[in-house]
Amino acid sequence: VAGIVDSPVARLPGLPAATRRHHASHKGSYGDVAVIGGAPGMAGAALLAGSAALNAGAGRVFVALLDPGAPALDQLRPELMFRRPDTLDLSGMTVVSGCGGGAAVGELLPHILQTADALVLDADALNGIAADPALQKLLKARSGLSTVLTPHPLEAARLLGSNTGEVQRNRLAAAQDLAKRFGAIVALKGSGTVIAQPDGTPVINVTGNARLATAGTGDVLAGMVGAALAARLAPMAATCEAVWRHGDLADQWPEEIPLTAGALAGGCLPVAR
Ligand code: AMP
Ligand code: MG
Repeated sequence: VAGIVDSPVARLPGLPAATRRHHASHKGSYGDVAVIGGAPGMAGAALLAGSAALNAGAGRVFVALLDPGAPALDQLRPELMFRRPDTLDLSGMTVVSGCGGGAAVGELLPHILQTADALVLDADALNGIAADPALQKLLKARSGLSTVLTPHPLEAARLLGSNTGEVQRNRLAAAQDLAKRFGAIVALKGSGTVIAQPDGTPVINVTGNARLATAGTGDVLAGMVGAALAARLAPMAATCEAVWRHGDLADQWPEEIPLTAGALAGGCLPVAR
């Protein structure tokens, strides 16, 4: 099919330089990620994204949970720094939003869209934008900044005012339409994730398998894209890199070990195999 290329990152030996630790680097060299999500009952989604970002090499990871009763520490991941969503300064940060945020994330989106340095929008953040033309306008106004949308087919359909059948029949066109419409990189998830950019050649990812069809793996991907953006990869390269590695982890996963999102997040190590 014209216009489709294999993922260029698939042919790179090892990992891109930006995810390696250089001698004289410090945590600031790898950037800050802020995960905003986790409505009541959904804290796990934000923790998965934060954990994945950390393991994928982000310098520092902040987690802002929207559940006011959420604990201020994850004892199993003491590296994660918890902040209240309204006190977190987002300038200079790579923000990952969605992640179990529920409807509450919509209220924060104007602030997030206007202040985040780089931005990954997933799940409830995308649903909030689909339902609100004012937010769509703010998203378009980010055109030229690093913005990545990671919809699954239903989320893509909501953004397009379409349905999942239509999106799945024309995955390449749907991803390209969204990328052009919102001036952002779009990773339309599912078997053969399509990564589209407003101008330029789209990519169809060749890694991954149906073991990823389990709760939370999308949150892990969002965190991985966040880490790649925080490491200052260009948004298209960052998205291709994260999608490819996310799928590759699943392809390399030992058959006898269950593939869960938590285990996958723990596998996002920024080291060459
Ligand atoms: P979500 O739909 O947000 O939970 O994200 C699920 C993640 O798993 C995405 O990265 C999908 O691309 C991936 N995934 C789910 N099912 C499959 C499949 N059958 N083959 C390859 N990847 C999949
Ligand atoms: Mg999801």
